[in-house]
Amino acid sequence: MLRRILVSFALLVAPAVAAVPTPKSYFGHEIGEDRTVLDWAKVVGYFQELQKSSDRIRVAELGKSTEGRPFIAATIADPETLKHLDHYIDIQKRLADPRITPAAEAEKLFLEGKAVVLITCSIHATEIAATHTAVEFAYRILTEDNPHYKAILQNTIVLLVPSLNPDGVDIVTRWYRKTLGTPFEGTAPPELYHHYVGHDNNRDWYIFSQVETRLTIAQLHNVWHPQIVYDVHQQGANASRLYVPPWLDPAEPNIDPILMQEMNMYGSAIAADLTAAGKTGVAIHAIYDFWTPSRHYQAFHGGLRILTEAASARIASPITLGADQISNTGLGYNPRERSWNYLEPWMGGTWTLRDICDYEMIAWDSLLYNAALHKTELLRNFYRVGQRQIERSKPWGFVISAKQRDPGATRKLIETLRFGQVEVHRGSDGSAVIPMHQPYGGWAKSLLEVQHYPNDLLYPGGPPKQPYDVTANTLPMLMGVEVRAADQPVPFAGEWTAPNPVSGPTLPAADTDSWSVVNAAWKAGKPVWRDPASGDFSLAARPGWAEHKQPRIGLYQPWQSNMDEGWTRWLLESFGFVYTTIRNADIQRGGLRQRFDAIILADQNANSIENGFGRNAMPEEYTGGLETAGAAALKEFANAGGNLILLNGASQYAISRLGVPAKTVTPDRERPELYYSPGSLLNMRVDTSSPLAYGVPAEIAAWSEHSAAWETQLPVVARYPDSGILASGWLVGEKVIAGHASLIDAPVGNGHVVLFGMRPQYRAQSYLTFKLFFNALIR
Ligand SMILES: [Zn+2]
Repeated sequence: MLRRILVSFALLVAPAVAAVPTPKSYFGHEIGEDRTVLDWAKVVGYFQELQKSSDRIRVAELGKSTEGRPFIAATIADPETLKHLDHYIDIQKRLADPRITPAAEAEKLFLEGKAVVLITCSIHATEIAATHTAVEFAYRILTEDNPHYKAILQNTIVLLVPSLNPDGVDIVTRWYRKTLGTPFEGTAPPELYHHYVGHDNNRDWYIFSQVETRLTIAQLHNVWHPQIVYDVHQQGANASRLYVPPWLDPAEPNIDPILMQEMNMYGSAIAADLTAAGKTGVAIHAIYDFWTPSRHYQAFHGGLRILTEAASARIASPITLGADQISNTGLGYNPRERSWNYLEPWMGGTWTLRDICDYEMIAWDSLLYNAALHKTELLRNFYRVGQRQIERSKPWGFVISAKQRDPGATRKLIETLRFGQVEVHRGSDGSAVIPMHQPYGGWAKSLLEVQHYPNDLLYPGGPPKQPYDVTANTLPMLMGVEVRAADQPVPFAGEWTAPNPVSGPTLPAADTDSWSVVNAAWKAGKPVWRDPASGDFSLAARPGWAEHKQPRIGLYQPWQSNMDEGWTRWLLESFGFVYTTIRNADIQRGGLRQRFDAIILADQNANSIENGFGRNAMPEEYTGGLETAGAAALKEFANAGGNLILLNGASQYAISRLGVPAKTVTPDRERPELYYSPGSLLNMRVDTSSPLAYGVPAEIAAWSEHSAAWETQLPVVARYPDSGILASGWLVGEKVIAGHASLIDAPVGNGHVVLFGMRPQYRAQSYLTFKLFFNALIR
């Protein structure tokens, strides 16, 4: 991997000749000018121009984005540094692993090395300013001779990713230009700005399911081991102008305190520099917590994660706010009041794309200059964090036994850990052994252990303080893989090697790999048989087994872009299912049973499914939902023998709009003090005699995220136990759901309506419950 990057650098390097082009001469407008947006091809072109005209920058294409656009990274440093990048990569590698670098040698490397800072922009594509700032910052640091930039070039290596989501740049630019000058100027596009996962592209940093995540991890993080990763975002328009760390509690227990202290320090330094530059509305220690590793890869790999969240304009159009429009609530601060962590409230005015770029530019300069000033300490602490990791002794390690119900999921779990640079060894009995005393032992521990999220209420008996994201990430539970913590050393031999993928006469329903084989057979026009007792598959006829037809699947896609729909698409494609995307009009037209065997509605609330965008919210063609005609068509589909599958929030649509007789026992989301499950793993009991439960054990932990539970006389496939419901994460109000249904298989006419009170296909992770979903699709 490393060799490939160096080769691509070499090919792209050219001697410094022409003058460095200004952004204005290249793009035809100043950066940050009102109502100007960028095309990705031009951003790439500009960085190539910079490389042709400056010896302080190199630009490499790391690969292609999901939709095939070039995914690029620039390396910016002193020309002498750029000539020896392989040397600095080697220093980083040696400092990252104290096992190969004695302390005396490390002392020399602290002086010789450079602080490596990775800046990643606009992963959320409507948060456009960071890509604009990247263009301007690159131009300035290549052309301005000031002491700050000199110090940065001499002491740091800046890795700049102008967009972590190149496809999104063009999706948002296309929509912005289309709606410019209309009442819809400045709205978000009616599609996901990442092809599969939209905004959840920033929740992928431990499961690594998307191309852009994998390129960034494999070619930047894992090669360069940055001391700092700065991820540049935007937030809503009505509160602080810019958030910067310190983070709110809780801090994930495996994050080294040295890193937390350094994040406090570098974040506060940015806040001080913004304030000194006259920028108001700067909040620290607010809103954003430091819990889930889905956003924080580097903090488990020895580096700091710095986040800034600037207030948004309306894409590139200015927004004007009166003092009365400033929010009076914010987690950790009040946007209308002075406090130690929000010293100068911003109380309204006009806010533009240029304003955001100005704040961001100050923040970038501040962070990089401070990294340059404290380079030696950054490197020393980086090494020290690695030392503390390899001294870790509780538990000694984890063991993943060789004999598992789901070999496919087991393989996936181990590959995921290894992609995050966890060393996995082979035990004498074929098990996988993961000792904790390794540089990223804490990372492995976080992904393998149970999360105990603090019971964090606003006041005793009051509503919960909302976590910024979900609260659980226990991969063994999500994937249905047996993993045990070992307190005593476990002998191991060489490196772990992957077992052979499934083959042979029986394809077990419990093995997720079987589903890919079955779908591939169907795609090739081959027949598939299924054992009515176990649900196992076979590609050859067997006595008592029935031939199983390939289902015709329709997946509903609303105009209110739905990340869960995107994740569902990703999952179906990953396992080889064939499906058709269907819109409001396709459903309302009726006659669905002639076209489909199964129809899926992903997690979405019932009102949004029914009504979609209001008449004045979006251009006419994107407004409305399924409405009465859609509900009637779905009922007719089920009555005629179709199989309607409703995921999480969408399951309430079956009760309120399709008349499925179940009573919801969970209160609505306005009463979180009564019941709160903000993304947690909950224990459930499964009726293994149901055809939906083929390959699934009788006791599972499934992903609950504000999920409903029901009281019903209908056939129940999964229900909560009477107590001990929380498996990992956080749950308030266990009694509310105790003993109630979480998965209903309702017979309707000749067909079925399946209500999932869970997210069975959660963010590419819940391999255990994928099978409940797959079984429902192909019944
Ligand atoms: Zn964001």
